[in-house]
Amino acid sequence: MSEELRTSVCRVGGMELSRVVNEAVRALADSPPAAAPASSARWGGEWHCPAGGARMQETNGQVRCPACGRHLPGPILYQFIEFSVYQAAVTADGGL
Ligand SMILES: [Zn+2]
Repeated sequence: MSEELRTSVCRVGGMELSRVVNEAVRALADSPPAAAPASSARWGGEWHCPAGGARMQETNGQVRCPACGRHLPGPILYQFIEFSVYQAAVTADGGL
């Protein structure tokens, strides 16, 4: 695989992941707060509400906004983490 093709493929992968994450967050912000399923996950990090921007709090595996009650579902959190790991890898790899 040529260097140029690898770069193009990686850029497309990053943009696709970014698009998926952005659409998921927009849909969350446009929806009313929903019940959060129980979770044993520990996400860590610092999260902000996609609707109001308030700092969200993690309790019992749920990342919830104290202002509006929205929570970030596990799949969205996972995509965010995956995307940030991808971005870090791209940066560390000199733009691949
Ligand atoms: Zn909120």
